[in-house]
Amino acid sequence: MTLTWRLAHRIASIAAVQAHEELSIDTARAPIDVAAAIGRAGVELMYQPLPALFGAYLADSCVAGILVNSRMSRAVRRQTAAHELGHHRLGHGTVYDAGASDDTSASLPGAAGAPAVERTAEAFAAWFLMPRRAVRTVLSALGYAPPLSAAQVYQIALRLGTSYATTARHLVSLRLATAEQCRGWVAVPPGRIKRQLAGEMLDGTAGVDVWDLTPAPGTIVASPGDVLVVAGDRPEVDGAVALQRLANGLWAVPVPTAEPRFSLTGPGGASTVEIAYPPLGRYRPVTDGDGDGDGTP
Ligand SMILES: [Zn+2]
Repeated sequence: MTLTWRLAHRIASIAAVQAHEELSIDTARAPIDVAAAIGRAGVELMYQPLPALFGAYLADSCVAGILVNSRMSRAVRRQTAAHELGHHRLGHGTVYDAGASDDTSASLPGAAGAPAVERTAEAFAAWFLMPRRAVRTVLSALGYAPPLSAAQVYQIALRLGTSYATTARHLVSLRLATAEQCRGWVAVPPGRIKRQLAGEMLDGTAGVDVWDLTPAPGTIVASPGDVLVVAGDRPEVDGAVALQRLANGLWAVPVPTAEPRFSLTGPGGASTVEIAYPPLGRYRPVTDGDGDGDGTP
């Protein structure tokens, strides 16, 4: 039996709503804490370097388990965790999700021709991580309204903790964009958006994100090595972070690799930057106080 994407999305969106309710997920908050949800589902979550796998769902043992490749970018780790939670919630058997490569920001393919269970799990991940309320929260925090630009979609994806292309497609599912707008967005490589914001700070664009903190002071969850930019007067930064003026007039701060968090106060107000270090080993819910869903403190 072939399952159309349309039907996969209908099944997955209902399953995601049920999962949010049963696992006590606050859908108005972004990013959605997927690791906590997996813990509350009674499933063991483990992060490990996996050479050719995005992750796996292990249904065979007495306690179900989810493995996530720790080498992938934060967005891909989160999407993989949500995809595997989808296999669990939808009653699928053990699945090894292959196809991971050295490109740590390339997501699970889930493309045309994928088996029905994979389509549904992939659609579940999108609806689980990007419920309408969380997307509305992010849009209102950023002060964005449709029609959105590619650069805005990129900033939305960062705050949802999802990949650029997946977010672009899901905005169509949420009827916040047309399919034609989405085609325009996915034609823009995220690397170009990153270079426009902070080109001179970047050796390469893979595995690094550039957060524009001009429109949205608040708490963000960034990864070490990311770059934060802010327009306007010189911002105040607290902590051992370096501040740099870019040729485009923006102020840039590289996210340090040895701090748990720091704050930055720009013309729009104060932002708290929580730093999510790549997780490794078994997820322990007590230590995850940052709400990024990675299992890191
Ligand atoms: Zn899968």
